[in-house]
Amino acid sequence: MTDKKFVYFFGDNQTEGSNKMKHLLGGKGANLAEMANLGVPVPPGFTISTEACVLYMKNNDYPDGMWEEIDKNIDKLEKSTGKRFGDPDNPLLTSVRSGAPISMPGMMDTVLNLGLNDDTVKGLAKKTDNERFAYDSYRRFIMMFSDVVLGIDTSEFENLIQQKKDELGVTEDTELDTEAMKELVDKFKATYKDKTGSDFPQEIKQQLQMSINAVFNSWNNDRAKKYRQLNKISDELGTAVNVQAMVFGNMGETSGTGVAFTRNPATGEQEFYGEYLTNAQGEDVVAGIRTPKPIKSLKENMPDVYRQLDDITQKLEQHYKDMQDIEFTIEMGTLYMLQTRNAKRTAAAALKVAVDMVNENLIDKKTAIMRLKPSQIDQVLHPMIDPESELDLLSTGLAASPGAAVGKVVFSAEHAEEMANKNEDIILVRTETSPEDIGGMHAARGVLTVRGGMTSHAAVVARGMGKPCVCGCDGITIDMKKGQFTAKGYTVKEGECISIDGSEGKIYIGEAELKIPTVSEELETMLQWADEVRKLKVRTNADTPEDATLAREFGAEGIGLCRTEHMFFGDDRIPVVREMIMADNKEDRENALQKLQPMQKDDFLAIFRAMDGYPITIRLLDPPLHEFLPKYEELIEKVKKLESEGGSQEEIDKVNNLLRNVSALTETNPMLGHRGCRLGITYPEIYEMQVKAIIEAACELTSEGMNVIPEIMIPLVSNEKELDFVKKTVTQTAESIMKEKCIDISYLCGTMIELPRAALTADRIAKGAEFFSFGTNDLTQTTFGFSRDDAGKFLPLYIDKGILNNDPFAVLDQEGVGELMKIGIDKGRSSRPDIKIGICGEHGGDPESIRFSYEAGLNYVSCSPYRVPIARLASAQAVLQEEEED
Ligand code: PEP
Ligand code: MG
Repeated sequence: MTDKKFVYFFGDNQTEGSNKMKHLLGGKGANLAEMANLGVPVPPGFTISTEACVLYMKNNDYPDGMWEEIDKNIDKLEKSTGKRFGDPDNPLLTSVRSGAPISMPGMMDTVLNLGLNDDTVKGLAKKTDNERFAYDSYRRFIMMFSDVVLGIDTSEFENLIQQKKDELGVTEDTELDTEAMKELVDKFKATYKDKTGSDFPQEIKQQLQMSINAVFNSWNNDRAKKYRQLNKISDELGTAVNVQAMVFGNMGETSGTGVAFTRNPATGEQEFYGEYLTNAQGEDVVAGIRTPKPIKSLKENMPDVYRQLDDITQKLEQHYKDMQDIEFTIEMGTLYMLQTRNAKRTAAAALKVAVDMVNENLIDKKTAIMRLKPSQIDQVLHPMIDPESELDLLSTGLAASPGAAVGKVVFSAEHAEEMANKNEDIILVRTETSPEDIGGMHAARGVLTVRGGMTSHAAVVARGMGKPCVCGCDGITIDMKKGQFTAKGYTVKEGECISIDGSEGKIYIGEAELKIPTVSEELETMLQWADEVRKLKVRTNADTPEDATLAREFGAEGIGLCRTEHMFFGDDRIPVVREMIMADNKEDRENALQKLQPMQKDDFLAIFRAMDGYPITIRLLDPPLHEFLPKYEELIEKVKKLESEGGSQEEIDKVNNLLRNVSALTETNPMLGHRGCRLGITYPEIYEMQVKAIIEAACELTSEGMNVIPEIMIPLVSNEKELDFVKKTVTQTAESIMKEKCIDISYLCGTMIELPRAALTADRIAKGAEFFSFGTNDLTQTTFGFSRDDAGKFLPLYIDKGILNNDPFAVLDQEGVGELMKIGIDKGRSSRPDIKIGICGEHGGDPESIRFSYEAGLNYVSCSPYRVPIARLASAQAVLQEEEED
């Protein structure tokens, strides 16, 4: 015998637990105890603690003293109800339910009516003067016990019910009379014996022991283990078992049962919301056999009960300071509460409830900020597929950019633009996208690619545009020649409709109904509260004035990354860019650059205007030059076509020339090749042109009275000498323009830290860099040695097998990449203490990575415009979580 207590009574003024004991009593047990403490009518019972379960699992035996305690609690329960286990005149019936500290739906179901046997069923019939009710309860008990405790398939019993109904020519269970119920009890018992080789247990203690045993064992069933693994719940917690006196909602028209919410869980509106059934048991509501009535009609049917229920639920919400989801039963006019818990809700409801509760003085702003999941902001900002839509799933890929879209399938960017010009809604479907597809992506409602990961071109650009995108969907096969793709036996032709869900990574055949949300007043309010708390600045990644304006509306405090290469793809630019790339000598190159320069300047003028007064980090050209040229295979096809269709020699020569250039620029490993600052070193005139455009635009707007704060950023630096070399070009060009215009612009010159060597030598690099911005896309790629564009082929398997917890291109790898960042920050600040440091890789919009960025001491995060609100909330939560831990 140990002194340890394993069983806690609740109800009848003898409650031993409370809501503070969730770890010991599980969520359900702790809330039952709490309700009892609050004076809410709860049928009495007792909870066997999680500790008992943990010891049982560890020792494969019940802990010493547990059964003695259970016996004492049964005595207590019998006294408090005036009924006795196994008493044929006045039997005590109980429910047995599992209840872990963290809700685990479906781990183990409920056993109701435990305590019935061939004798007590008669007693129940006599006492209630309702023989049918007693036998109905008994057959339900046999079925639930067999299913939950012994794993006998319920269909065995359901078939027997159906047979009986057919025999009697009735359709509803409620039409089965007493005789039929009695027969079913016999048949159910026979089935039990047939399946188990034993008689259905008549000894009540044995029924209880077997049920408790089943709940303990259910902690380690496959379903529960999988659920814990997916939801990162510790295996060590164990489950509690709740044994509670039954109350019956199926004892006539003054009885009933229902579920309700203290507010509307879909909208958050403050209204008592729910449904109930008269003359029914809990599972009838869930099974959907009868249509429940709205809770409001209880007001007419049983006004006193309704008033009491309304009072109790308000009291519970005030007490828990959160929206509650409750279950109740009315037994012959008497109300009992069976459960209360914080209600699950939609994102819109979560937002409204949190803001309303602050206004009602129920919670403070900080609590409200912590109540909302950053992903819920995503949901309230993007269209969603109506959950009611019934669609066939075609395939799944990566949830690369949130929101849902519906449109006709189109396989080329060109065609996408044509169709969009005709006001068609389209989905661009590509094997992978390249910068050339930008126009088509822009024209499309959504993007679907077969290859590519979370930082592939399609994913990054789609997120930037706020377009839904599913990437790396290798379950589909595109046949360009036939103009179709196939997946799961379906063939989808160009022009047919599909729906994509970029929040879930799913593709459906046909047109889904979309729900279009609006930015609500509540969201504005919540984000303002977040701004009061957060310490990290939030900037945006934006390359166009439209994106910059949108990001400002979402609250961005500057641009953390303007990728200038995206400006080179306009129809008016690309021919000049190609002219520049294919120039044989410096002079021709400079001529082409001179044509580009005014266009670049216009770009900067527009972006500076949109971000007046806020810092703008402009990254000089980064990608390898071949990205601006057509694809090799396409050119070969073009030459073949021209030759077979009798094209002019001049035309053929032109394409062949392009082909030679493409061939010369082709690299085996372009992501590690001639790109970034390496371009600025081999062709300084390109960066010169860009700096000239930046500083001229800044001078022009400064003279108009605008406050322009440019930050010129040099990409892919691995060595301080690279930075020094390029910085010289930047400084000399900037100085000469400022001198010419007689205007002083206080610009900064800094670098991206996106290569491991840069992080490791950040002290040297910081001597020449006025700011750092972590390019965690490339830093992840180069730290792991995972290609950004190809890792999608094996990463899902890595995650499935538990080799990685997350896609490191979506959630920052804190142990490796994060460690390099910390080294970079420490070393950078050791030689330049006031250096401004941010992050502009895709991780800048991911809540977990934002928390890491805050704790690592960054000054700002930068993310695509649609993720700015998420970053504002996540940054505030990072501060509050830190305060909580201190
Ligand atoms: C990065 O590498 O993290 C980055 C922001 O640059 P890009 O994605 O353009 O390479
Ligand atoms: Mg990069």
